[in-house]
Amino acid sequence: MFRPFGYLNFDMGNARLGEVYILNQKGDILLKLQGRIGSKTLKISILNSKIAGASDVKAAEERVKCQLTKYQMCMGCLACESVCRFNALTVREGKNGETQYRISDGKCMRCGECVAHFTAGCYMRKVLTIKRGGEGGSHGRKE
Ligand code: SF4
Ligand code: SF4
Repeated sequence: MFRPFGYLNFDMGNARLGEVYILNQKGDILLKLQGRIGSKTLKISILNSKIAGASDVKAAEERVKCQLTKYQMCMGCLACESVCRFNALTVREGKNGETQYRISDGKCMRCGECVAHFTAGCYMRKVLTIKRGGEGGSHGRKE
């Protein structure tokens, strides 16, 4: 999930606390993730706002939220695949019908393009939001 932001480093953090750092190519720390295996809570600390083309902390926070949205809401529409110029992103249906959104560590160039390409990170979310808004408006007129 976090590959578009940088390179995952499992050695720098405290393994007992489930800490993982994300670094840029120069080795600067960008993000710190903290979440124990099995826990449903993940703490994300933005330590450098220069992630996925963001210019300040607020924009960086939005980028992170976009990426979380993909993993929470992906319905497998494949739009994200066409955004990646490096063929690093695949969206497939798993054996149990679940959507598998994967980013290849070897192919990903950390260009950040896939992160915020669509409003709120997901094309389908935008479509569904507009549709819901439209349905609500029509319902209102009938009444
Ligand atoms: S746009 Fe949304 S639903 Fe479509 S592949 Fe990307 S995350 Fe999944
Ligand atoms: S668009 Fe492709 S290469 Fe760029 S960050 Fe996303 S997955 Fe990586």
